[in-house]
Amino acid sequence: MPGDLVLEVRDLKTSFQLHKQDYRVLHGVSFEVARHETLCVVGESGCGKSVMTLSIMGLLPENATVQAQSIRLDGQELTALSPRQMNKVRGRKMGMIFQEPMTCLNPLLTIGRQMTEGLKLHLGLGKEEARRVALETLKQVGVSNPEERLRQYPFQLSGGLRQRVMIAMVLSLNPRLLIADEPTTALDVTIQKQVLLLLRQLKHQLDAGVLFITHDLGVVAEIADRVIVLYAGVKVEEGGVRQIFEQPAHPYTIGLLAAVPNIKSEGYTLSPIPGTPPNIAQAIEGCRFHPRCGRATDICREQAPALRALAPGHSAACHHLEVRP
Ligand code: SF4
Repeated sequence: MPGDLVLEVRDLKTSFQLHKQDYRVLHGVSFEVARHETLCVVGESGCGKSVMTLSIMGLLPENATVQAQSIRLDGQELTALSPRQMNKVRGRKMGMIFQEPMTCLNPLLTIGRQMTEGLKLHLGLGKEEARRVALETLKQVGVSNPEERLRQYPFQLSGGLRQRVMIAMVLSLNPRLLIADEPTTALDVTIQKQVLLLLRQLKHQLDAGVLFITHDLGVVAEIADRVIVLYAGVKVEEGGVRQIFEQPAHPYTIGLLAAVPNIKSEGYTLSPIPGTPPNIAQAIEGCRFHPRCGRATDICREQAPALRALAPGHSAACHHLEVRP
């Protein structure tokens, strides 16, 4: 793993109370993000990816309970912080980029006002300095006519430009961790490529790590250094991006890869994974993937498999892993 760690998560468990019943969504997930690396979290919708990031950021609703042995951001333990202290950490040390920039941009304020307010509040900059940093960051992320953009309102920008502005707003605060939750899903393919390229370039310029959430393996191939695969709230595989793509070990990872269209191969056949991830009310004994797994045997239905190391940096949780030479 490159560099030192900016995020360390140990045994993260998140539950929701619905109709006086507790339902667990994350079942003890652990991982790290190092400085200058992009860790992609993949899995189908409903596997707990977004709940995981919202748990780390402390942004879940009141009916959620987040427990963890430890969540350390840049050496600071977050589990002991009050909501007010978390608010400060979120603005300053964690930057968030969401799928829809309009969820973060205020439609009633100009881009300039929104960018400079954040810089004044979190970094204590004066008006002129905040404007200078805002302009510089807009240029850094490739926004054309930055002076004019500062005077514009979000509705006057295209979707791709709004996403760049949101990235600029986050970067201007120089966060230690950048959390990107499906940031390119709502963009068309050309703009998506540009934003991914931008994030790849920025990773090397920033003194930060990137936690990138996506269901799209094409995006993972373009941007990830390492990957964790989440299924029904459990980490089922972890490895370097080449290990995951070239030597996937867990049947769920293999299934995800087989379901990716490959227009380069003539006569390819799509093989979607049968069934859907369980909903939170569904209790499953043993391996949580067994109802959908073609390799399942009795032990799979009885015992949850532990993660096993396959190679340095590569591990998977399955009772029937094929041991590689
Ligand atoms: Fe499939 Fe069994 Fe492995 Fe689970 S433990 S992924 S059910 S083979």
